[in-house]
Amino acid sequence: MIPVFRPVIGEKESEYVNDCLKENWISHDGKFNKIFEREFPKFCGAKYGIGVTNGTSALHLALRALKIGKGDEVIVPDFTMASCGFAVSYCGAKPVFVDSERETWNIDVNKIEEKISDKTKAIMIVHIFGHPCEMDEVLALSGKYSLKVIEDCAEAHGAVYKGRKVGSFGDVAAFSFYANKVITTGEGGMLITNNEMIAERARWLHSLAFDKERRYVHKEIGYNFRMTNLQAAIGLAQLERIDVIIEKKRRIARTYSSCLAGIEGITLPSEKPYVRNIYWMYGIIVEKDFGMSRDLLKSELFTEGIDSRFFFTPLHSQPCFSQYNYDKKDFPVSIELSQKGFYLPSGIDLTDEQIGFICSKIKEIKKRYQ
Ligand SMILES: *Cc1c(COP(=O)(O)O)cnc(C)c1O
Repeated sequence: MIPVFRPVIGEKESEYVNDCLKENWISHDGKFNKIFEREFPKFCGAKYGIGVTNGTSALHLALRALKIGKGDEVIVPDFTMASCGFAVSYCGAKPVFVDSERETWNIDVNKIEEKISDKTKAIMIVHIFGHPCEMDEVLALSGKYSLKVIEDCAEAHGAVYKGRKVGSFGDVAAFSFYANKVITTGEGGMLITNNEMIAERARWLHSLAFDKERRYVHKEIGYNFRMTNLQAAIGLAQLERIDVIIEKKRRIARTYSSCLAGIEGITLPSEKPYVRNIYWMYGIIVEKDFGMSRDLLKSELFTEGIDSRFFFTPLHSQPCFSQYNYDKKDFPVSIELSQKGFYLPSGIDLTDEQIGFICSKIKEIKKRYQ
């Protein structure tokens, strides 16, 4: 079976983890925490970084750092990981979902304004599958309505929008280092920001909000979102190779796109001329004229030993958000993507031969069903 993804762990990771074990520093606030929290934001073009337990907690912490709470609304793309809607809900605020655009699958910036109310406090955007959002338009709206901007960069480490890396545009950004993300720490995440006050507040909240003067006094509800030195050790080793990893991801996408180009009924992932897509996962859309459904294509590929994953299920349709009664008429694109999209094996250990094999199987299966 060709898996959708497999993390690639090198010698450096073992070396650094062994260093933690030898030094007997396996918990928080170790040597690797400090280096990783300095180097990762630097790679993104931001000043401050706070390592956390995962990407979901990074989003949650970001919202708390911005003082989003009960009665507030936050704009969230409809087509994304549930974590985005969850994080808003953890704060007692309401996620207000916005449809996607067909080309990049990102939030449709032209549909944001109509969803802004006097309760809206922030816009959370997600650089889906590694393609940056239209940040100019998002920042213009945030300026016009005085809204905070949270970037969910869980799928977009190192992606570039108009010459600048994602994660440095908003007030705060959240990254994930889950096993299938661009770099991994097993489980882990990071909040990054250029704002010193936000960084300080996030650092305070992420470690139980101990009072600076009187340690066991807590003025707000804090969290234990601390990243361990062991996680940071793996993360640092991965970060040292991130440019190579991103180049490999882009190369995989180029190989797929040239193999799949010209097959009728398949829409390939896009890359706007002013961005660098890092193609976290190589997603395709199975259109009506392909001749068979996406679900059937996926199961036929599975029979041939090729694993893949469906796109997200739209957040407006999730049972856990049913109390809000979102109107499905507002989300035609996100619904369509969820029905027609899926992603192919995208691990950086994937060979050109395997990509060739996967593409030839897609062509073969299509023929079989004509
Ligand atoms: C992976 C992911 C998350 C959550 O990260 P975890 O580390 O799994 O909690 C959030 N948002 C997006 C867009 C993701 O892809």
